[in-house]
Amino acid sequence: MRTYLVTGAASGIGQATSELLKERGNNVVTTDLQDTDIVADLSTVAGREHLISEAGRLAPGGLDGVIAVAGLPLPIPTTVAVNFFGMVATLEGLRPLLENSPAPRAVGVSSMASLWPSDETLVKHQLAGEEDLALQRAADLAKSETGGQLIYSSTKVAFSRWLRRASILPQWAGAGIPLNAIGPGTVVSGFTRETLSTEEGRQLLEQMVPMPLGGPAEAVVCAYLLAWLASAENTHVTGQVVFIDGGNDATLRGDSTW
Ligand code: NAD
Repeated sequence: MRTYLVTGAASGIGQATSELLKERGNNVVTTDLQDTDIVADLSTVAGREHLISEAGRLAPGGLDGVIAVAGLPLPIPTTVAVNFFGMVATLEGLRPLLENSPAPRAVGVSSMASLWPSDETLVKHQLAGEEDLALQRAADLAKSETGGQLIYSSTKVAFSRWLRRASILPQWAGAGIPLNAIGPGTVVSGFTRETLSTEEGRQLLEQMVPMPLGGPAEAVVCAYLLAWLASAENTHVTGQVVFIDGGNDATLRGDSTW
């Protein structure tokens, strides 16, 4: 039996992932803003520290997998605090708890939005660990006419770059810990439920995120991939953002990657 910690576990992809892992007989420590084993606000330093200390208390034998899912879609600075700084703090902060596992794994959640236009200054501040400057930049973008829409994509670009850089370092690859992310297309979850509830909303999402294979996915679809990336079976996939997007990446990027 393996022990996992899943963030964002009260809704959508995180909830589907913790349920799937439990159904498969694993121990799962859940965390979110409410209704979970650990209640922690990942937009704050105090909340991140609370998560790390509570995880140590609830999993005294350590963890086999960390699955960082929590995120916000909103064009506001808090999205930067949760999607980048909260996700990185979760993965870095819980890494020591993976040390005794025979097959330690870590996975985060990026997005097809990492392929959209982003703000390089915001990306740079995030990667430099400059949270105050990043939040200020996001606040400035949020006030501008079109800048707000760059905030979410910039968090996912920064996280995707961070994970490629981190995955090959001694503390990750050198310690035998594969570190990956999934890059979902449109998923039915708290993020999208309202938009997907009207024909107009569905058409808008279809234009923004074309998914020729199957259209929007149920959250459990992402859970299957997260569970595999975090399983002992995954020995050599690392540093990857694995798109699970019904063909969105292939549609948008075409031949440009090879
Ligand atoms: P969701 O809204 O159903 O779940 C997100 C969870 O994150 C919620 O339970 C929420 O409470 C939690 N969260 C938000 N702010 C938090 C904070 N400050 N501290 C702790 N937890 C917090 O949405 P979802 O679709 O399951 O989102 C999960 C991940 O998937 C996110 O990282 C998101 O960027 C990514 N994603 C979603 C889609 C989509 O179409 N739904 C597409 C691409 C990527």
